[in-house]
Amino acid sequence: MTVVSSTPAIGPFSATSNDFTAYATARHWIGGAWRDPLSSKTELDVVNPRYGKTIAQVRIGGADDVAAAVKSGAAAAREWGHWPIRDRAHVMYRLRELMVRNLEELSWLVSHENGKIYGEAKAEVEKGIECVEFGCSLPNLAAGNQLEVSRGVSCELAYTPLGVVAGVTPFNFPIMVPLWMLPQALVGGNAFVLKPSERVPLSTLRLAELLAEAGLPAGVFNIVQGGRDVVEALCDHPEVKALGFVGSTRVAKAVYARASVQGKRALCLGGAKNHLIVVPDADPELTAENVVASFTGCAGQRCMAASVLLAVGDVDHILDAVRVRAAKITTGRDLGPVTTQAARDRIANYIDGAEQMGARIVLDGRAPNPSAAVPGGYWIGPTILDGVTGDMPVAHEEIFGPVLSVRRVPTLDKAIEIENSSPYGNASCIYTSSGDIARRVLASVEAGMCGVNIGVPVPREPFGFGGWNDSAFGHGNMTGWDGYRFWTRQRKITSKWALQRDQNWMS
Ligand code: NAD
Repeated sequence: MTVVSSTPAIGPFSATSNDFTAYATARHWIGGAWRDPLSSKTELDVVNPRYGKTIAQVRIGGADDVAAAVKSGAAAAREWGHWPIRDRAHVMYRLRELMVRNLEELSWLVSHENGKIYGEAKAEVEKGIECVEFGCSLPNLAAGNQLEVSRGVSCELAYTPLGVVAGVTPFNFPIMVPLWMLPQALVGGNAFVLKPSERVPLSTLRLAELLAEAGLPAGVFNIVQGGRDVVEALCDHPEVKALGFVGSTRVAKAVYARASVQGKRALCLGGAKNHLIVVPDADPELTAENVVASFTGCAGQRCMAASVLLAVGDVDHILDAVRVRAAKITTGRDLGPVTTQAARDRIANYIDGAEQMGARIVLDGRAPNPSAAVPGGYWIGPTILDGVTGDMPVAHEEIFGPVLSVRRVPTLDKAIEIENSSPYGNASCIYTSSGDIARRVLASVEAGMCGVNIGVPVPREPFGFGGWNDSAFGHGNMTGWDGYRFWTRQRKITSKWALQRDQNWMS
């Protein structure tokens, strides 16, 4: 039985601290109303990782709910796709204002469902706002593609909507990653079906409300809650014309294959194993500050997080500065929990395994000290492993926790060789005060996003976000102008209105 309700699933989120707060049930948002699954009876807990306690439930959908959302989207897209692009962008202007006004509420919401500390959650929402601002600029960027190509003959390029498109997002950025996709897809004139991570389904409920308040017509944005079944139904549905995915490499690869075989365009961003190269002429304090921020920020649960530090030659003074800085982090205050108990155990197992294989534990997060961690949460403190070798799993597998593996290498060439042997290609960074060394590294590493003296080289809008190799399947970047091109198709119009005497091959 369908249960339809127009009552908001969540009211204003009043939390202004880390204190435990319960939440309303996460349901589907279809056609501008909250709905329960048509047939599935599965309900999962949404857990606040800081406490290890349930804050809400999420009702898991299935293929029938996807069909309902796509039907609603298709009906809404027929009109929305004919709105002038400026009018569509105005919804983004209003969304931006609403997000700024509700910044604190949205940030606490992200913090509560994901676990990241408030400052990190706020930075996430602010990056989401930046993506919305890019959406506001699209009418200016999409204009001007017209040329007289032959006497009296003009060619024009128009970006037209695809119809209904879909996005699947991971747990680590509950509001920012959906906003990597939505501004371009919506301003491009499409209806959107979002499948958020079942671990963090709450922030996007609030986003749905804000989009409605911003004037987005009902049915243009829909949410179907769920897991694999919903993703596969989105891949298979013939009316879903494009699919954006962000998550682990294993799933990104499978989703890319399934969507592509159905003839859809797909862009699927996957996991990462980011290498930082540190050479002796690097500034010790700047490097230490950056490296620590990179491997501990969001508890290491970022696809841009530092994972392996390639220490070239004698950089002990820099590594010492890294250790001193990381040791000052108070877990629970400066560093949030990881997402689940299983994730916590998996990370601890990686550390155990490296230790057994001969790595030296320079800083041990298995029993974090200092700590302000709340009992019951999924805590693991900053961890530094030195003397890591290529045969250890920590050297090449994505850990997704606050763990830095230090590999000692004799030369810059060896560091570049190790970096390039990783199948991933998300981010890579060089720490040096030499422009020549920086240029050599930038010209050689296999990574789509590179940093010079910066540990989290996230491209700011309008520069697009996207990696290489096993970190991305499909063509182009998720954000920026590439995103607009991904979510639209180009129509070329060639016109000849005036008859004239001179002829050429085109006339
Ligand atoms: P995940 O792959 O487990 O899940 C991502 C999404 O896919 C979720 O919505 C989930 O419900 C769905 N899903 C899970 N298993 C599926 C299956 N078998 N078939 C179809 N769908 C499935 O990833 P996660 O744990 O939520 O997120 C962490 C991962 O995401 C890390 O690997 C991280 O590096 C990556 N990530 C990458 C980027 C990037 O830009 N490259 C950004 C953020 C996160």
